[in-house]
Amino acid sequence: MESNNRKQAWTIWYVIVAFTGMLLLQQAWSSYQQTETISYSEFEKRIAEKKISEVVIGADTIQGTLKTPAPNGVNKFITVRVDPALADKLAAEGVTVTGAPPAGIIGAVLGWVIPGIAFYLLWVFLFRRLADKQGLGGLMTVGKSHAKVYVETDTKVTFKDVAGVDEAKFELQEVVAFLKDPKAFGRLGARAPKGILLVGPPGTGKTLLARAVAGEAGVSFFSISGSEFVEMFVGVGAARVRDLFEQARKAAPCIIFIDELDALGRSRSAGGIGGFDEKEQTLNQLLAELDGFDPSIGVILLAATNRPEILDPALLRAGRFDRQVLVDRPDHKGRLEIVRVHARKIVIEPGFDLDRVANITTGFTGADLSNLVNEAAIVATRRRGAAVNFEDFTAAIERIVAGIEKRSRILSAPERRRVAYHEMGHALVAASLPDVDPVLKVSIIPRGVGALGYTIQRPTEDRFVLAASELHHRITVLMGGRAAEMLIFEGDISTGAADDLQRATDIAMEMVTLYGMAAAVGQRTYKPPPQMFLGSQPLDKPAASEATQREIDLSVKDMVTNAFMEARDILARRRADLDKGAELLLTKEAITADDFPAIRQAEPTPRLTATPSA
Ligand code: ADP
Ligand code: MG
Ligand code: ZN
Repeated sequence: MESNNRKQAWTIWYVIVAFTGMLLLQQAWSSYQQTETISYSEFEKRIAEKKISEVVIGADTIQGTLKTPAPNGVNKFITVRVDPALADKLAAEGVTVTGAPPAGIIGAVLGWVIPGIAFYLLWVFLFRRLADKQGLGGLMTVGKSHAKVYVETDTKVTFKDVAGVDEAKFELQEVVAFLKDPKAFGRLGARAPKGILLVGPPGTGKTLLARAVAGEAGVSFFSISGSEFVEMFVGVGAARVRDLFEQARKAAPCIIFIDELDALGRSRSAGGIGGFDEKEQTLNQLLAELDGFDPSIGVILLAATNRPEILDPALLRAGRFDRQVLVDRPDHKGRLEIVRVHARKIVIEPGFDLDRVANITTGFTGADLSNLVNEAAIVATRRRGAAVNFEDFTAAIERIVAGIEKRSRILSAPERRRVAYHEMGHALVAASLPDVDPVLKVSIIPRGVGALGYTIQRPTEDRFVLAASELHHRITVLMGGRAAEMLIFEGDISTGAADDLQRATDIAMEMVTLYGMAAAVGQRTYKPPPQMFLGSQPLDKPAASEATQREIDLSVKDMVTNAFMEARDILARRRADLDKGAELLLTKEAITADDFPAIRQAEPTPRLTATPSA
């Protein structure tokens, strides 16, 4: 790229110099000729004085030679022809006549060359822009990597900055040991792992962990995102892979980190712009590099993905990314540690127990927690507090799960009444079922993009397995809003339940097609596994026959309908609480179980969900 740029620059200079040269030459030549340009009147005068020995008459000009050279040694002259009759007339009146020369060579040169140069520059500019976009990198540099490879010699991140993922850290300790001293590692003939794949949901700290490995080992960190390999032109991505490995080999010991590997290592049947060929070539090049490089020189390949199931099986076989390290959502202890790491950066109220934050953030990832700590600090700053306290954290959580308050959105009185009943419906149904998340808060302050009111339920523990009854009760809570409207407005339901219905349907669909929880459909899955094998087409419809498809649809509908009727029964039974709660909501706008004990749950249980609706 570098040298090529220079070559192009040379080309441009060459062109300009050449034309400038021509102009100079022409001038030199004409001065060599010692030709004097004179007016037509002067020419006539010279004829009259019989000074001219010979003339050459051209279409536009007359060139002549003097009998005796002028005092300055010039004996040739040139003049531009003019209409002779007119010239005579003018001469008679004593007017000096000079012909205007037609555009001469200089004019022609300028007239042609300047647009030429302009076009050339424009072309170069446009082509380079295009080439940059397509990753071609200059005119002729198809083989050269143009990918943004970030090399950091010191990532300044260590294992201390990554919390709550002790198992992953433990696994990676080995890699650190190897990078620090490759020879000692091979003492017993063990070879270092070649490729390690960090797998886990987004925001759990995979990228952070990879950087921490480099930081711990004190080696360079080459990072590139998988999406940067995906190119329009066949061969470019492959060239980048080659280039990346080449650079890394020179810098060993080091770490190559390919983030979002799924963008590059997608199963080869997955299509997209740029065609299969390019993706396949890039992937094949990666596989070849993986096979070809010898880890004993001290290069370790790390990659991260949150979708391991779509990766090409060839990437995962032994000798390639054969070791997978799970980076999972943190549990209670992990959350506490992560909050501690991030709370170091803010001013916390003295005596504040961070354990309380860990308690109310079930299901949060490291990125969520880092964001939460920052949001809490923002809330505290806005209320002009001296330090961040627990209320700031709860306010921040509400903001994160339900969106920003939109106090400017004014609802009419009937709308507010409807929203109040709708939300109280969710809350009361939730309070009446034993195994759903307890209600943290009910509010009719509009928030976020579409929520006119919301009910926040807070999970109290990490959940790994859910019973069919629990899923069913979740649907029931989701239907509580519409059920309340049905009761109170005598069947005149509203558009406010659209999101509730969507979520209820999604849960029911998964129960039927993924967990085999519908008797009519049977205990098998109808959802195709996300993994796509060579040649198979991605399916977005359940893999069911038409008759079964109908059964699936009916089962889903039944599940949601049953849940709705259950919710309606609960609310009909608790009609007094529903009216009282809605009244209270209309006056206070937001209430908790402390304000209205009817929404307190008898036996508490699971997950953080906001139910934005109405
Ligand atoms: P991923 O790559 O898994 O999507 P990142 O590593 O990019 O997630 O995490 C984003 C940010 O979230 C990090 O920069 C860090 O501030 C925070 N974070 C995530 N996980 C952790 C963790 N385990 N410990 C501390 N901070 C974390
Ligand atoms: Mg990442
Ligand atoms: Zn709702």
